[in-house]
Amino acid sequence: MDELDYAIRLRMMQNLANETVTHRHSAKDRAEPVRQYGSFNPGTGVGGAGEHWGAVSNRYPTDQFTLATHLHERFGSRLPEDLAVQDWGVTYDDLEPYYWRAEQMMGVCGKAGNLRGARIDGGDPFEGPRSHEFPNPPHKLSYFPSMFRQAALDLGYRPFPIPTATLSRGYRNPDGIERAGCMYCGYCTRFGCMIGAKAQPSNTLLPVLRDKKNFTLKTGCSVRRVIHRDGKAEGVTYIDASGQEKMQPANVVLLSSWTVNNIRLLLLSQIGEPYDPSTGKGTLGKNLTHQVNQQVQLFFDKPLNLFMGTGGLGYAIGEFAGVPMGLDPSSGILRGAEIRAQTSGEGPVSSFGKVPSEESPQEWGSQWKKQSLQWHDKVAQLTPARQPTWPIARTIWTSIRPIPTTLAIHCCGSRSIGPITKSARNSFLRST
Ligand SMILES: Cc1cc2nc3c(=O)[nH]c(=O)nc-3n(C[C@H](O)[C@H](O)[C@H](O)COP(=O)(O)OP(=O)(O)OC[C@H]3O[C@@H](n4cnc5c(N)ncnc54)[C@H](O)[C@@H]3O)c2cc1C
Ligand code: SF4
Repeated sequence: MDELDYAIRLRMMQNLANETVTHRHSAKDRAEPVRQYGSFNPGTGVGGAGEHWGAVSNRYPTDQFTLATHLHERFGSRLPEDLAVQDWGVTYDDLEPYYWRAEQMMGVCGKAGNLRGARIDGGDPFEGPRSHEFPNPPHKLSYFPSMFRQAALDLGYRPFPIPTATLSRGYRNPDGIERAGCMYCGYCTRFGCMIGAKAQPSNTLLPVLRDKKNFTLKTGCSVRRVIHRDGKAEGVTYIDASGQEKMQPANVVLLSSWTVNNIRLLLLSQIGEPYDPSTGKGTLGKNLTHQVNQQVQLFFDKPLNLFMGTGGLGYAIGEFAGVPMGLDPSSGILRGAEIRAQTSGEGPVSSFGKVPSEESPQEWGSQWKKQSLQWHDKVAQLTPARQPTWPIARTIWTSIRPIPTTLAIHCCGSRSIGPITKSARNSFLRST
């Protein structure tokens, strides 16, 4: 696998030179094209981002489905008037059979913490009731998450393995699709799996679909409009792989081109009422959410073998998800997040250059290179993850900062702890 090609130059993502989205900070700004990727990596081609995802396969917590009700009960008049959160209209219990079906299809690995209401040691103590144990057991545990797990146990938390759709063993799903167990090669997130251990649309859905007589896959096509009349879909127009515009008649059109592309297609097709931020009217494009992660770096004195791993390999604690323990409800912080320690696999390029800012303030030059070699394979991350709906969330990391610091100290000698982003480097703090 070529790290430069896939993980740095993002070969499996939409080519921004061909097509991109625009961005603006307020309705008054001019929309500017996004020319460089940050965390926003739209997939392209057959299977989309599901081909290069990390395969972390959580279910949402039960209260996520009635979040508006929950927040209003807890925070009442202190909530902003324009709070965007709504209840979903379906509950966790409604979705449970579908979660289970998808988990079987993908072969998700993990350990149940709640089986039909009975709490199980070793699983997520905060999860909703599962009708079944996971289809596959958790992965083998790598070094850094094993330290995190022990540190969390020592501090009285209840760590659990992160559910992941990279297989911990060979598996045959209910559709009869067989896939091999993961080799922990580490070329996982942002890559396709060469042995099919990671659940991807190309190795779970396509093998089933291609045997159906009424299924045709057309690749290299781009849908331009949904054709509709009197509120009913009649088909789509698309540009095919040879550049010809075609019409595909249809009674039912499923929009599955990912959130932003779906909205664009609906806008272009003049379906729905576009959201107007100045009046708050309209639903199309309202409440766009995106996953936003922050990480804290931990610096160790010994190598961690971080080249080995798989997308979701690791342990988490859930004590700070939901409304975090020990947080003052008047702080204005509505929700917390899980804290995760993962070894997803680090290639030679991405693992280089992680240095405590106090030892090399700039990220260039001979001093930085020297320090990078010294710190190579000794830097791991704690990540707050599985945050609920983001329009209401703001970063809680600074508020819960003492927690990763304590965990880091307990992680068998993490020497220091610091933020991963350059902008946050100034707040680097020593923990020992
Ligand atoms: C690096 C990375 C890691 C991730 N890791 C995780 C993880 O560990 N766990 C998790 O739960 N989620 C993860 N995600 C998120 C997850 O992959 C996406 O949420 C999911 O794939 C979205 O699925 P989708 O079908 O909506 O869209 P996509 O997977 O983006 O698929 C959309 C498809 O539509 C095609 N398309 C777009 N426009 C058109 C058009 N006009 N006509 C025809 N086709 C079109 C695209 O080419 C693409 O093939 C990750 C995402 C990325 C980028
Ligand atoms: S880490 Fe495992 S699942 Fe991921 S690409 Fe390698 S073998 Fe496949």
